Amino acid sequence: MTYAYDVIIAGASFAGLAVAAHLRGRRVLVIDHQPIGAGQTSACGVPLATLKALNLEDAVLQIHDALILHTPERSFVYPVPQYPYCTFDYEKLCRLLWERATADFVEAPALGVEGQRVRTPKGEYEGRVIVDASGWRAVLASSLRPDWVQGQAVNFGLESTVPYADEGLHFTYDPKRLGRLSIAWIFPINGASRIGIGRYEGETQGTLRLLDLYLADLGQARRKVHGGYFTYRLRDPVLEHLFLVGDAAGQCLPLTGEGIRPALYFGTQLGRLLRRHLEGELSLDQTRERYRRLVLRYKKAYDLLYRLQRLLPRLPLSVLQIFMALGTRPSVYRRTLRRYFAAFALDDGEQPQSPAFTLGESTA
Ligand SMILES: Cc1cc2nc3c(=O)[nH]c(=O)nc-3n(C[C@H](O)[C@H](O)[C@H](O)COP(=O)(O)OP(=O)(O)OC[C@H]3O[C@@H](n4cnc5c(N)ncnc54)[C@H](O)[C@@H]3O)c2cc1C
Repeated sequence: MTYAYDVIIAGASFAGLAVAAHLRGRRVLVIDHQPIGAGQTSACGVPLATLKALNLEDAVLQIHDALILHTPERSFVYPVPQYPYCTFDYEKLCRLLWERATADFVEAPALGVEGQRVRTPKGEYEGRVIVDASGWRAVLASSLRPDWVQGQAVNFGLESTVPYADEGLHFTYDPKRLGRLSIAWIFPINGASRIGIGRYEGETQGTLRLLDLYLADLGQARRKVHGGYFTYRLRDPVLEHLFLVGDAAGQCLPLTGEGIRPALYFGTQLGRLLRRHLEGELSLDQTRERYRRLVLRYKKAYDLLYRLQRLLPRLPLSVLQIFMALGTRPSVYRRTLRRYFAAFALDDGEQPQSPAFTLGESTA
């Protein structure tokens, strides 16, 4: 059977564009209700190595050699010169990925999927393979399973970019002032900073008030705000004939809220697998199986971070500070960081590099 498109992708952000960028030369359609690069929701902090591996360094705004954790009583500094983080320009990064993809673009919301057809207000489009990369809403998966998003475990965050210069990535945990399940951050971007509040378990009420409070502590006032939900439970990335990637498949890491690196990583791996399928090397069933296996290898690690996300905010601050202090020992944090960074390394074909992070095969 001949379809108009080899692959249709709903969602043109990290995950969707990473898939499209690896399908150059194929007939690909990307659907998003916003223009490419217009839908920034996040602070855009990511390990520099991730952008280097994908040749996306042109989007970098500032490089950060330290992570700093603040409590009302103390600050803990974790130098990361071997594993620097960076903050980047969202629009530029999306454009760089888009330029690599030889895809058509339809600016419209995807409404749902029926068989091989994706519905939008501008018409229906038929594809041999369909990918849902529409973020936590998982719009295509939800059209097959109306309760899909109800099962989607989400954290919530809002941030504003203000003229506050700094260095390093800063996180503040102040349970009395900001709430036990909240964390604040400062992500500097060369003369300005993205300053935000994250709420574990998706509490939204009062977030703007907390953001204003935190900004006021820094002598700043809120400007334009963006943000939204991000997921924290890894899900099966294949639903019937759909491939899910990024937050649509719950791939944002629990606890740290780091979702960009997994979205780029799994998007790249899915793009590579789909290319092999389209070249006749893998059947569709093999492609599904390999992608599912690749993702679910991480299940135990995601579960561990999820348990920490539940546990840590429930500990007394004095106990938490003991862990934070232990973590500043170079022997501890260097080992942890080495594993953490190796987990989504992109230069090794299909397999994750660090079984240590994946903690063995999952039975999920
Ligand atoms: C305030 C905040 C700060 C964050 N900071 C960081 C950070 O610094 N580092 C980090 O790693 N992670 C961060 N995250 C998490 C990270 O943003 C997400 O995990 C990541 O964006 C997921 O990428 P994605 O491509 O799966 O989905 P998204 O980036 O959410 O993109 C989904 C895409 O789908 C499109 N879409 C939605 N509905 C439809 C539809 N019906 N039809 C077609 N298209 C649709 C959207 O327009 C969007 O382009 C943050 C999140 C928030 C909320």
